Amino acid sequence: MKFIKNCLVFSFFFILLSEVIYSINLIDEVKIKKIPIYTINNIQYISLKSLLKIINADNWAKIEDRVFIFIGDTQIKFRIDDKILIFGGKTYELKNPPKIALEEVLIPLEEFSQMFLNYTPSTKNQLKEDLVLEKKKDKKFVILIDPGHGGHDSGAIGNYGLREKDVNLDVALRVERYLKKQLEKYTSVEIYLTRKEDVFISLEERVNIAKGLNADIFFSIHTNSSRFNRENADGFETFYPASKLELNILPKTTDGEGELKENNNLDPVLSQIIVNLNDTDIIDESRILAEIVQEKLAQRLITPDRGAKRGNFYVLRYTPMISVLTEIGFICNPVIELNLKDVEVRQAIGETLGEAIIEYLRRRKII
Ligand SMILES: [Zn+2]
Repeated sequence: MKFIKNCLVFSFFFILLSEVIYSINLIDEVKIKKIPIYTINNIQYISLKSLLKIINADNWAKIEDRVFIFIGDTQIKFRIDDKILIFGGKTYELKNPPKIALEEVLIPLEEFSQMFLNYTPSTKNQLKEDLVLEKKKDKKFVILIDPGHGGHDSGAIGNYGLREKDVNLDVALRVERYLKKQLEKYTSVEIYLTRKEDVFISLEERVNIAKGLNADIFFSIHTNSSRFNRENADGFETFYPASKLELNILPKTTDGEGELKENNNLDPVLSQIIVNLNDTDIIDESRILAEIVQEKLAQRLITPDRGAKRGNFYVLRYTPMISVLTEIGFICNPVIELNLKDVEVRQAIGETLGEAIIEYLRRRKII
């Protein structure tokens, strides 16, 4: 009885909360904020910029004639001069499509206002539960461990000659061994590596392996280096994607870390874009995993905790699944380099990364 009562209270609060967030009356907001209205053939429009300001969009993109807007869990997508609009997974047919005039994307005010008033969001947790249940039903949960660099791409090199690619691979193999042992009885979880030996694999190939395996987690292992502070740079950090883009044809890359420039000028293969409805969820889950990795490493290592951070790395941006890139220590720092040579240190780091993955699987009830 008590359980049911709590549920009712919870749903009541949720309704209140969702109304505060989502009942956006664009027409009222436009009046209050004195936003310019454009009238074309007796239809009122506001600019896309004004709309974004009113709805406080978390994230948005205009790619050629396509517009994608994210508000929390909800994705809105439409095309210029196209009547079809997708709002939170539902398809609507507009009477007046968005258009371009005076170098602005113009949004039909009345129709958009109706959509915001009618929309009831599903909760984040519900989405996550659905996601996990779907995985459980349909397929194995696949973890792909990605030792950075390899072959002619050594990655960073320490003063004593220790190469990043070797450290990454050795630690990755230890993570794999640890996970396979710990997850022995969970036959629904599978573990793969992008490379098991010293071979070169481009960043595109790594993304393609992840897609081909339909991986659920992409876990990249790197060793850090600082150009300006080689002697003293110290600590471990884990990156989660700043944004995700799923492309049919991946942009060509050079070797190395694949850190993309911050200016988010969109990729050249724009027309190939497939937008993943769960993008914001996947970034959020990646952040949670990155935080667990940092938390576990901080318990085990005495080097500084540099935190879980957003990063614009190629493999984080183009893998369509939960993804993190961890930098386990600065190989350019001679003291750390010697530590990273030590088998016991590598084993400890490998186990710790494995523990972090297991902790995430537990939290998500995958095991
Ligand atoms: Zn690296």
